[in-house]
Amino acid sequence: MQYKFSKSSLSLLKDCPRCFWLHFNKKIKHPSTIFPSLPSGMDAILKKHFDSYRERGELPPELQTLEKENIKLFTDKKQLTIWQNNFKGIQWKDGHGNLFMGAVDDLLTKDRKIIVMDFKTRGFPKKDDTAALYQDQLDIYNFLLRKNGFETEDYGYLIFYHPLEVAKTGDVIFHKDLVKMKVDVKNAEKIFKQAVEVLDGPIPKSSEECGHCKWAREASI
Ligand code: SF4
Repeated sequence: MQYKFSKSSLSLLKDCPRCFWLHFNKKIKHPSTIFPSLPSGMDAILKKHFDSYRERGELPPELQTLEKENIKLFTDKKQLTIWQNNFKGIQWKDGHGNLFMGAVDDLLTKDRKIIVMDFKTRGFPKKDDTAALYQDQLDIYNFLLRKNGFETEDYGYLIFYHPLEVAKTGDVIFHKDLVKMKVDVKNAEKIFKQAVEVLDGPIPKSSEECGHCKWAREASI
């Protein structure tokens, strides 16, 4: 059987292999929860904000520290629009026809190499271990770009935004943190391999973290 994996389905693999198995092999979706719309709204306006600087050939203020390293915004907007699209994104098929895809927020370049960048909106300041939660995502995007023949740097950036204060005008001010992360494409390769192995194997156990299965067991009295 050939599978189509997106970044979100692969994060389901990490959260609960059982739910991942049920999603692909039995078409049973994870119970839906209310998803805050603020992060996707922020992503949309941030993309426009970065585009306005791209058109002028400048770096936005939150990336000014990268200017001395000769880092620039990725200039091929047509290509970027495809890679930003959740239904297209960056795609790659393995030797068995399994399709892996991921949609980036934005990209930078240094000389000929691409640097992956992702926006993260949070309600509160990031903690010391927050950035590590997004390691797999950066690794996957870099892996996909390299499999498509593009050279990427061995690091990427996360930009965290969290609300700081309300100005006298009533505008909400967001604090920004730019975090540089090492990239490990071998980790992405491992995730893809594990995804196929889990789906080809028996149904895994439920995650201890998610309460839904436990609730369903206890509720079936
Ligand atoms: S515990 Fe159950 S509902 Fe929760 S993620 Fe796993 S399979 Fe899905």
